[in-house]
Amino acid sequence: MLLILGAGESGIGAALLAKKLGMIAFVSDANLIRDSFKSELVSNEIDFEEGGHEMAYEISPEFVIKSPGISEQTDIIKHFSNLGVEIISEIEFASRHCNACIVGVTGSNGKTTTTNLIYHLLHSAGKDVVKAGNVGHSFARALSQKNWEYYVLELSSFQLDGIKQFRPDLAILLNITPDHLDRYQNSFENYVASKFRITLNQNHNDHFIVYGNDEAIKKYLQIHPSKARIVNCIPELTPLDVLLENNQILVDLSHTCLKGRHNAVNAMCAIKAAQLLNISMDSIQNALNSFVNDPHRLEFVSSINDIDFINDSKATNVDSVFWALDAMKKKVVWIAGGQDKGNDYTVLEALVKQKVSALIAMGIDNRKLVDAFGKLIPVIRDTHSLDDAVRQAFECAHPGEVVLLSPACASFDLFKNYEDRGTQFKEAVRKLN
Ligand code: ADP
Repeated sequence: MLLILGAGESGIGAALLAKKLGMIAFVSDANLIRDSFKSELVSNEIDFEEGGHEMAYEISPEFVIKSPGISEQTDIIKHFSNLGVEIISEIEFASRHCNACIVGVTGSNGKTTTTNLIYHLLHSAGKDVVKAGNVGHSFARALSQKNWEYYVLELSSFQLDGIKQFRPDLAILLNITPDHLDRYQNSFENYVASKFRITLNQNHNDHFIVYGNDEAIKKYLQIHPSKARIVNCIPELTPLDVLLENNQILVDLSHTCLKGRHNAVNAMCAIKAAQLLNISMDSIQNALNSFVNDPHRLEFVSSINDIDFINDSKATNVDSVFWALDAMKKKVVWIAGGQDKGNDYTVLEALVKQKVSALIAMGIDNRKLVDAFGKLIPVIRDTHSLDDAVRQAFECAHPGEVVLLSPACASFDLFKNYEDRGTQFKEAVRKLN
């Protein structure tokens, strides 16, 4: 028997895969299990408990599959690790039963965009491909459905922490900036090492595609060389949004939704992956033009009185805001704030001085933001709801400017999640019309 701890998408996927492989699984969740997941367990005759781990403690499993959301420090994990039971992630479990080509994507920011893009480049070229991991379904669920030829996986550092032999044919590391440090003993080094686990088991036949200008990536690679073939991506973006590599035109991004230098990095890493999988440049350029990203990532909402509204609610850390501001070609009325994750705003100062005409702070407690930018931005407004923030932003903005929601903070003080925040933003903008 195997024990699955955590009945979210990865746990349910693991249970379905176990069932397909003829293994007996027991699923245990400390909280209540979502109804739709529960009915999947029931209809597949997979036993489970919810609201606690009582029955799990009684089991002697062959191994444990732990959801990435469960910390190593919880009692149930300590219990099985003290007993010497192997604890792995759903990604590790699925990869042990997968012989197809795996493309793994990680980084502090840009994972979803790049995963979506690689999927789109391969799918448009007629490949039998699925995307999974943090986007869409879990890897295990995708594998339980059918044997795809290509799996494009978005991988968080938490997911990488649980791997042992997982070996992607192509690994992509986009960037590493401080995030989630609370899970890494507040050590950036630990977090960097976690991201690098994506290449841990790669060999000389595999490829490791990295953003070559990222300081943390460069430094770590010098000390811990990867066994894979390194593909260094150093894109340059012209003012007309043409992407250059070594001064040669690689692709034209001007007719795509991939705006800004950070998206040039995502695009170049995705293009390199597609090229390594023998997709032609013609096919790549066509697919780039038809690419539609997920919402809430520098998503254009509408233009009212020549003021553009852009929803970047997914920007929950300082680095993603840096790139959002960097991508703006007009003056910005910036809506930011929420639940602070120990942010250091100093890296934004130069860009903010240059581009931001007004800051609309939006959160339960805006003091830190106001303190950080009070002297740099001529107009600052203190707001505590999205409707108010959007109304005040509209008041402050002049024709030809942009109202950008790019919060640098988590959303949980006023919203369910970043999607809720972005959706409410779009509704509030529509109400202005
Ligand atoms: P992730 O899945 O890693 O959170 P997303 O593609 O969902 O990444 O983008 C999250 C946020 O980061 C968005 O605000 C987006 O504009 C920004 N972003 C996307 N790619 C990058 C990048 N390469 N570097 C920095 N920020 C990025």
